[in-house]
Amino acid sequence: MTKPKRRPAEEQQAAPPREIAEPICAACLRANGSVCCEVAQGEKLATLLIADIERIEAATGLPRHRFVEREELDPAERLAYETHRPIYRGVFVGNVRYGLKARRGACVFLERGRGCSLPLEAKPLACLLYPLDFDLAGEVTLLDAPHCLALERAEGPHHLLRMLGTTRPELAKLHARALAEGADHARRERRLLRNR
Ligand code: SF4
Ligand code: SF4
Repeated sequence: MTKPKRRPAEEQQAAPPREIAEPICAACLRANGSVCCEVAQGEKLATLLIADIERIEAATGLPRHRFVEREELDPAERLAYETHRPIYRGVFVGNVRYGLKARRGACVFLERGRGCSLPLEAKPLACLLYPLDFDLAGEVTLLDAPHCLALERAEGPHHLLRMLGTTRPELAKLHARALAEGADHARRERRLLRNR
């Protein structure tokens, strides 16, 4: 889930996230290892919103410092991130981004050979969406995910949607959730800043 970039519009296919189906990801895990949960030197894992953090705390009982990495972005980095990922516009209050913590080159929740150890209801929004994203208008776009088997095998938007086991209405719900939880995150971060 690293350094997400947006593909040019002409290369994009409309597509879905992975609320239900896991087969393509299981096949990917066997073929490629845990590519979307690993990071190379200098790369970062998925962004976390406060709502993601609270769901993970509730599901695992872990304190947030065990799985959250706090990163200070410089203004140019923040702008670049928000440009590539419009659903995060306004979220990085005080230029602070929270992300999943890595250990030995992979997300702390990754079980090698088995995949994510979090229950589906506690998976971060960004992980549910990957390799998908939304543009400013709320249209589904694709992240640049060169090793993603789903993207490699998809013969078109509908096929990709079926492989990932979701629907456009499910995507619309995730988009609404991203906007609502992003706004809530920003509100709470601003309050924290004011009270410091
Ligand atoms: S939370 Fe789960 S799906 Fe997300 S990067 Fe970590 S192991 Fe992968
Ligand atoms: S890279 Fe793509 S196909 Fe592979 S596990 Fe991640 S989302 Fe699934």
